[in-house]
Amino acid sequence: MKLTITDWRAVAGWKWDVPDDDVCGICRAPFDACCPGCKIPGDDCPLIWGECSHVFHMHCLLKWLGSETSQQQCPMDRRPWVTAS
Ligand SMILES: [Zn+2]
Ligand SMILES: [Zn+2]
Ligand SMILES: [Zn+2]
Repeated sequence: MKLTITDWRAVAGWKWDVPDDDVCGICRAPFDACCPGCKIPGDDCPLIWGECSHVFHMHCLLKWLGSETSQQQCPMDRRPWVTAS
């Protein structure tokens, strides 16, 4: 049996490497909405990417990192949080 290699990789597309359903892992609100502390989505409520590839509302992450339980770790994978530059 001979398989034909199709060009599937080229059509797979590209998208943000964001968590399931494109929701913030902390507040569970979609990334196209703002965090619970804000009223208007957009530049005033930016997203923040970590080097572990997880994405959160910046406000959610800052609030998380400010809590004692966070231990400065990513809330999704518990690796030390490093903001991607
Ligand atoms: Zn959030
Ligand atoms: Zn916000
Ligand atoms: Zn992470």
